[in-house]
Amino acid sequence: MDPIPCPCCNSFFVPRNKLQVFCSKTNCQRARKALWQKQKLACDPEYKEDQKLANQKWLQNFPDYWADYRQRNPENAARNRSLQKIRNCKRQENKAHFKASKTIGIAKMDSSKASNHELLGQYWLVPTVAKMDPVKIFITTAPVCSP
Ligand SMILES: [Zn+2]
Repeated sequence: MDPIPCPCCNSFFVPRNKLQVFCSKTNCQRARKALWQKQKLACDPEYKEDQKLANQKWLQNFPDYWADYRQRNPENAARNRSLQKIRNCKRQENKAHFKASKTIGIAKMDSSKASNHELLGQYWLVPTVAKMDPVKIFITTAPVCSP
């Protein structure tokens, strides 16, 4: 069999059979399994529920895991807090948008969509430096000045 490139590490390897796509390195096998699990979670609601129950059971046995994790990885914890703030803001915006459309009686739910310009819209600038809050920015068109 001819060597093929591994999609994870990009190194060439000789597959054991036609179905093998990832090489046998530990990190590449972890990436393969993570990809499989992500697809399985998206497609199989029963598997998703089983995983949820297994995670809850595991967390009952290790209740301090996440507190320890945050203490061991303060940068990751700060990043996750920032991203959670963004998710909370988005959730609040969605609730506010839904309430406003209900009270005003506007049925058009896509009113906040940007026009044909792909960069127009609302974005969050998420700092990679800890202890800084994400900043919300708006990108809009500027009037064209005639010479
Ligand atoms: Zn690989």
